[in-house]
Parts: sequence; structure tokens; C-alpha cells
Amino acid sequence: MSAPRHKKETIWTTLAWVLNIAGLGGIAIVAVAYLALQPVSAASQPISTAALPATYTPDPNSLLDLPTVTPNPRSTLIVVQTPTPFVLAGGTRPLVIGYSVSGRPIEVYTFGNGEKQRMIVAGIHGGYEWNTIALADELIIHIYENPNIIPSDVTLYILRNLNPDGDARDHGYDGRVNDHGVDLNRNFPTNWSAEWDRDGCWDYGPTTGGTGPGSEPETRTLMGFLQTHKIEALISYHSAALGVFPGGEPWEKSSIQFAKELADATDYSFPPLDTGCTFTGTLADYAVELGATSVDMELSTHTNTDFKKNLKALDVLLNWKK
Ligand SMILES: [Zn+2]
Repeated sequence: MSAPRHKKETIWTTLAWVLNIAGLGGIAIVAVAYLALQPVSAASQPISTAALPATYTPDPNSLLDLPTVTPNPRSTLIVVQTPTPFVLAGGTRPLVIGYSVSGRPIEVYTFGNGEKQRMIVAGIHGGYEWNTIALADELIIHIYENPNIIPSDVTLYILRNLNPDGDARDHGYDGRVNDHGVDLNRNFPTNWSAEWDRDGCWDYGPTTGGTGPGSEPETRTLMGFLQTHKIEALISYHSAALGVFPGGEPWEKSSIQFAKELADATDYSFPPLDTGCTFTGTLADYAVELGATSVDMELSTHTNTDFKKNLKALDVLLNWKK
């Protein structure tokens, strides 16, 4: 298999060159070139993240002992639809903290450098909730243009799209899961379950919690980030319409207060609508387990970003005190 490896090395050398002279917009060009050189069978195989030029690598010793994931029939690597990671004026680029099943980058933008760390995560449900990714991008541009809104004692991280493969696959029901068919917001290790009673839960297509807690590369990427940062407060964005869900099972006290303040600022519902669904393996519950104040917050619809409301939510997040 030395020939394919040689090809990969050539491509990544090219990638580094294009990044230098053309910015991240070059990724799309390189991705097409890369795909053209791949054997047909490669489209059904996840790319080893070890072969990719990660700029951030979680400490493997701090992660759980995780099961090996199996190749999948859903691979979207041949569909290059994900919006090219955008580069802000002045060349500000995101930190790539890991890669999806099909090799798409998972990006974090960082604002400020204070000791109080806050985080926004969008796109965990991929293209089904693509408007959360659009909101994250609007917030990123807004903060870039108005850096003074970040208090001097705060660092804000925005992970704009945790499920880029789902976003590339479909902006509808089929875009919800990752390229292993896993619902990433059921894959975190807290209260994890492979299956769950679908009464009152999302049931528009097949989903699972994965082959084990944190079985998915997207999940492990974010777990590694959370385990190596001290995030005090986190908003995990979803859509649509159910309200604001505090993390924790039962709901953790400071997360309830955070949810109430966010609901007051945005007019999203608190308490959230109880559909009877039992939520397993969620990011918000995992973040609480790590000591963060955390919520799942739903935009009003599947199409709007509710930008003005979420500027108010951003203010609550940035100024949150436990
Ligand atoms: Zn969701």
C-alpha cells in the first residue's frame, strides 16, 4: 500500500502549499484533487485522522477506552458540499481540533484570552439543524468585527459545526446523523445508551447512539477539547422550538439558572417542552459531568438563525456567573 500513502503525502504537501498562498478556501480544490486520486473503495472507508495535519491533538491518556468504529455505508466524502471553512479578514483562521468520519475538519474559533472559558457548539445534528451552523458563522463574524464585546477576563470558543458530514449529506432529516449513522448528541459517555424508547423522541429516520460511549471521532474530538480546557459555561445549539434544556440528570442547579436567564433574554421556552423523550448521551449532560454549566438551546425554526435573540444569549453566556 505504499503507492496510496505516497499519493496522500503528495496531496498533503500540496494542501500545505495552497493553505499558505490561498487560505483555507484552497481546501475545496485540494479535496477535489484528493478525491480524484483515490481508489473507488476509499469512499467507503473512514480516513485515519493520524494521516491528517491536525493542529490540536487530545491527550489519548485522558480519553476513555473506546471501541473501534466500523466502516460505514453512509460516507459522504465524495460529496463536497460543506461550506468551505471561511477565513476572516486579516487571515484569522479556525483551529482544527479533529476530523469527522469522512475527514472533514472540525473547527474552533477563539476570541479573547481571559481565564474564564466559555463555549458555543453548533451543528451537532448536522444538516437537519443547519441553521445553528449559520448562526455560529454570523456570531463569529459579528465578534470578529466587534472584539470589544468579549470581556477582558473571558475566552470564548465557537465550534461552528460538529457534524460536517451530516451537513454535507442533506439539509433535511437525512442530515442529522454522522457518516456512521450515529446521532452525535446520543454518543457522549454520560447516561449513554445504544438504543432508546422512541416515544416522544425524534423518529424521522434510523439513528443509534453508536457502538459504545464516545465511539465517534466527532464526539471524541470534542471530548478531548473539553477534557483539556476548563469550560465554565456552554451552549449547545439545536433546532427547533422546544426551548432551553439544562444539562444534568436530574437538571444541574446552575444549569437551570443559566437556562432561565437565556430564556428571559431570548423568549425561548423555559421550562422546555416535555415531549416525553428520555435523552441519553448528550453533550450538555457530559459537559455538566466535567463541571461546566451547560444547556441545549433550540432556535425557533429550522430555517432562521434568530440572530438578534442570540446576540442577547451571547451576552448572557459571556457574563455568566455561577
Ligand atoms: Zn438537535
